[in-house]
Amino acid sequence: MTAQQDADAPAHPRYAVVGAGPAGIYATQGLLTTTPEARVDLIERLPAPFGLIRYGVAPDHGRIKNVIRALEPVLQDPRVRLLANVEFGRDVGLAELRSSYDAVVVATGALRDRPLPVPGAELDGVHSGADFVSWYAGHPDGPTEWPLAARSVAVVGMGNVAVDVARILAKSSGELRSTDMPVQVLAALANSAVEDVHVFGRRGPAQAKFSPLELRELSESTTFDVIVDPADLLDDPVTRAAREASKITDQVVRTVESYAARPPHGRGRRLFLHFWEAPAAVLGSESVVGLRTERTVLDNDGNAVGTGQLTDWPVQAVYPAIGYRSDAAPGLPFDTEHAVVPNVQGRVDGLPDVYVTGWLRRGPVGLIGQTRSDAAEVVASIAADRTAGVWTATSGVDLVDTLAARGHGVVTWSGWELIDDLEQRLGLAQGRERCKVTDRAELLATAGVHRAAPLTIC
Ligand SMILES: Cc1cc2nc3c(=O)[nH]c(=O)nc-3n(C[C@H](O)[C@H](O)[C@H](O)COP(=O)(O)OP(=O)(O)OC[C@H]3O[C@@H](n4cnc5c(N)ncnc54)[C@H](O)[C@@H]3O)c2cc1C
Repeated sequence: MTAQQDADAPAHPRYAVVGAGPAGIYATQGLLTTTPEARVDLIERLPAPFGLIRYGVAPDHGRIKNVIRALEPVLQDPRVRLLANVEFGRDVGLAELRSSYDAVVVATGALRDRPLPVPGAELDGVHSGADFVSWYAGHPDGPTEWPLAARSVAVVGMGNVAVDVARILAKSSGELRSTDMPVQVLAALANSAVEDVHVFGRRGPAQAKFSPLELRELSESTTFDVIVDPADLLDDPVTRAAREASKITDQVVRTVESYAARPPHGRGRRLFLHFWEAPAAVLGSESVVGLRTERTVLDNDGNAVGTGQLTDWPVQAVYPAIGYRSDAAPGLPFDTEHAVVPNVQGRVDGLPDVYVTGWLRRGPVGLIGQTRSDAAEVVASIAADRTAGVWTATSGVDLVDTLAARGHGVVTWSGWELIDDLEQRLGLAQGRERCKVTDRAELLATAGVHRAAPLTIC
């Protein structure tokens, strides 16, 4: 770095961070730590911040949801402005952000999931796992109603999201009453016809992506038994090697073994974990009447290959939960195969003042904690580029003024505090910590953005 380059670095850099999920908030925190004189505008599409911590993490995982409390001080920092209810690509574009800010960090995450690539996936009764999550988490753009008439359901996938979906389907509404679930969700779950939930994975317990804690937690429900066929447990060299190589894998396999060894308690509902069964087709003419799976074995590369042995499972609903997928971010290059923005250490290809972090950067895998380490790397790239003077001068236009001139209602931190306060009061009235407000108009009215009176329905 030359003295000239250092002198060219903006004295009070102004950053736009797009997406107020954990990745965007950790990036904001990192930017302020490395450059205390910086100012950050955090732009969020929804009226509420916190991304998938609020709208993905399961309602009965209160401890994890409490990460929100740890992130709040970042948004309360006077150097940060939360600009929620502002959609990147619709209310503000990349060119506008690049001209108003020294650098732009895009952290728009992922909301959709990957469709099931088998015949029959279009049938009535095949439900997106991500939509189900959005429904029970009260996402303002999610479904407002959910069909729960199926007595037997299949959940496809062997990761934590599949376990969340299966657990919420199998639990009684009574077990969920103390969570922040919207009342209409609790009411619908109370009338659910579900009796059996079948979770299918195309590989074995040693290859499943569950976290041991999530898997163990299944045994704590008083509503359902967890059932594993002992025939699904293999003590082969591949499984042994995987267990020796990873403590986590060993814990997962041990837990699965304990389920296989346990006689059912007769709790009512049943949650089956089926390993070595790859979905081959969803059966039915208009709506789902079954799921056909093919027994698998591992080949020498560890891939599941079909054995030709087919089984038809009589289920009336199928929930694929085989991974999320980011959407392209407007104006940024996009690798459609991997559904990520191509980047080097967070620097977006061809856009010298644009950076990417979180799930949009590395794909929708990993826990909240990983978005923190991700942000650290991106923030280091930004700090290096700032001192190297690679950015062009900004127009000095304040986005808040621009949005106000356009008559666009912005939810600020104090607006969010009003929503937060209402949700807690509604929760208190029902003997729980919070009851989530789901309706966008009501959220905006509560935040003081629209004048309509709040409906106070949660
Ligand atoms: C169902 C589910 C359960 C999970 N459970 C856990 C768990 O128990 N523990 C754990 O550690 N991790 C869990 N995770 C993973 C965790 O949620 C992710 O690691 C993390 O949320 C990714 O952070 P992110 O900021 O990249 O994306 P997100 O959390 O998706 O945040 C992206 C933000 O960008 C906003 N946005 C999107 N588009 C725009 C736009 N155009 N303009 C402005 N804003 C926009 C979104 O509204 C959102 O607020 C779970 C994930 C899912 C899907």
